[in-house]
Amino acid sequence: MENRWSRLGSAKSTESHNNIKNVCAMLKRNLNTADPRPPILLGHGDPSAFPCFRTTPVAEEAIVDALKSAKFNSYAPSLGLLQARRSIAEYLSRDLPYKLTPDDVFVTSGCKDAIHVMITVLARAGSNVLLPRPGFPRYEACAAFSQLEVRHYELLPEKGWEVCLDSIESLTDDKTAAVVVINPGNPCGNVYSHQHLREIAETAKKLGILVIADEVYGHLSFGDDPFVPMGSFGSVVPVITLGSISKRWAVPGWRLGWIVMNDPLKMLQESAIVECIKSRLDFSSEPVTFIQGAIPKILQDTTEQFFSSINSILKEAAEKCFSKVNEIPCIACPHKPQGSMFVMVKLEVSLLEDIKDDMDFCLKLAKEESVVVLPGAVVGMKNWLRVTFAVEPLCLEDGLERIKAFCHRHSVMR
Ligand SMILES: *Cc1c(COP(=O)(O)O)cnc(C)c1O
Repeated sequence: MENRWSRLGSAKSTESHNNIKNVCAMLKRNLNTADPRPPILLGHGDPSAFPCFRTTPVAEEAIVDALKSAKFNSYAPSLGLLQARRSIAEYLSRDLPYKLTPDDVFVTSGCKDAIHVMITVLARAGSNVLLPRPGFPRYEACAAFSQLEVRHYELLPEKGWEVCLDSIESLTDDKTAAVVVINPGNPCGNVYSHQHLREIAETAKKLGILVIADEVYGHLSFGDDPFVPMGSFGSVVPVITLGSISKRWAVPGWRLGWIVMNDPLKMLQESAIVECIKSRLDFSSEPVTFIQGAIPKILQDTTEQFFSSINSILKEAAEKCFSKVNEIPCIACPHKPQGSMFVMVKLEVSLLEDIKDDMDFCLKLAKEESVVVLPGAVVGMKNWLRVTFAVEPLCLEDGLERIKAFCHRHSVMR
């Protein structure tokens, strides 16, 4: 007889073995413990442990003050504290051609929670969603869990990882609810121009689909194009922006994010989407109240100098990474990262003697050189690698040298 408990849980809910955290942890277990050199972890993107990426004292003091005030020991409302929502609206309105109000903002436990909320809301409507390839696997994982159909559109490496608008058009049908755009991009380090964002908005308008703009790396841009929020085109097509303080302030552990309705013409008024988001938020645990209490100070008082010093560390790291990778045989970087913390690197497997694929490369690299990078397959691009450059500069240099030595050793041209 079939075991009574075997019907509990479903295969779909166990697909998480393929997520970034788990793959990095698996590669870390493959490090050679006899190697006297310190391991160099370029797999996941959390620079908060490095002294040069330490958050601003403004943020630390804001938290301490909020905590000591004893004003934030209660439960927070499920949509977020009003002062937190107001300050997020003001912060984002600085870069928009119209003003957001606190009613446009919902506070979430980081951007991951914002993703989860939006995916469950879309799944309830029996729709499908368009996701970028390569992309951020959390979307696929949430969609699988919620049984929301995913369709992948392509990002074009030879065009600075721009969105392939033709693939968006050909994938859309009357069940398509939204297209997710990640800008500045993880894993590609792209920062889209004003013009390209307008084209995306016009395409979405023509197809009648929402844009979900993942801007968790908002303002972490250091290339030719400045960061432009997708919400700038909110009067072309409704845009729902997801963000958090995790990346710009380097505090991913603080778990404060947001979902923001960029819909100045109230095109979504007739839809149930806002009601659906609100009722979904009733089920989530809201971010810690004293963090919410600190948010107005964090957003208003952080100095330009803090932001520009982080961006200049990232810029230098991105340049070093790009030029170094392109000196190494067997790997290549088609596009210099313009933002975020990542670069996609193409693996020429045929030029490597005994390397089967990206996973094999990463396993052997961990074993032989004590360096962890992420196999591209995890972000949807087999035989590519995703490398984080948001680490201490000397660490990055050392890591790139070791990758170089590894590639030379395994090159067929040796
Ligand atoms: C890191 C990341 C998130 C998650 O952000 P948190 O605020 O830490 O939950 C969401 N989207 C992308 C593209 C990310 O890289």
